[in-house]
Amino acid sequence: MTLLFDTHTHLDAPQFDEDREEVIRRAREAGVQLLVNIGFNRETIPTTMALAEQHDFIYAAVGWHPVDSVDMRPEDLLWIERLCAHKKVVAIGEIGLDYHWDTSPKEVQHRVFREQIRLARKVGKPVVIHNRDAHEDVLRILKEENAAEVGGVMHCFSGSWETAKQCLDMNFYISFGGPVTFKNARVPKEVLSQVPLDRILIETDAPYLAPHPFRGKRNESSYVSLVANTAAEILGKTTQEIGRITTENGKKCFGIT
Ligand SMILES: [Zn+2]
Repeated sequence: MTLLFDTHTHLDAPQFDEDREEVIRRAREAGVQLLVNIGFNRETIPTTMALAEQHDFIYAAVGWHPVDSVDMRPEDLLWIERLCAHKKVVAIGEIGLDYHWDTSPKEVQHRVFREQIRLARKVGKPVVIHNRDAHEDVLRILKEENAAEVGGVMHCFSGSWETAKQCLDMNFYISFGGPVTFKNARVPKEVLSQVPLDRILIETDAPYLAPHPFRGKRNESSYVSLVANTAAEILGKTTQEIGRITTENGKKCFGIT
């Protein structure tokens, strides 16, 4: 059976309220042996922690999403710091910059992003990076804050090979999700073919960004197998090999033994 690690998912999302246990069971049946669920604001951090406590194979990342930056209070940062002592919390994220949704001013996003990179260095955890239409500023801030010290994941990477190279230089893993499976996804496929094998991760970002042939529908963690299939085709490997390699990479990235 294929061994898979969905390194970025949101199974606590309301889209799964009707059938969450069923969705988790299907993921297990598809070969998903590890999951990192992402809690990214006041509502989703507690629900993420609950999932991680209920299921052995579910780990948690906690952080403050750039879209919600305006809502982060100083006590929230302390809350995240305290949660980092929990044995199932493996990363700080998703954090970063989002210039697509105009909900938090750029200065606020920059401050909240920097504070969380500093926290990650303080607690020694990797960071999970959300980057939407903000490549230049994300790279600059990661460099200025010396994120290379902890490394982490460029989640659902959508940038160029030039950008990927700079992330690799800062000890980041490059994670590919549903969009790499789309027929017209020339750039992501090219980037995937160039990233060193030991730095590739796969993810779903469920319930969002469902892979082909489910594009536009609700995504779920079992579909990470479709991302693995695409990566296998591009790299001339079997899906089993990609599953095994990306699972090893994910365990190393998140310090899961
Ligand atoms: Zn996400």
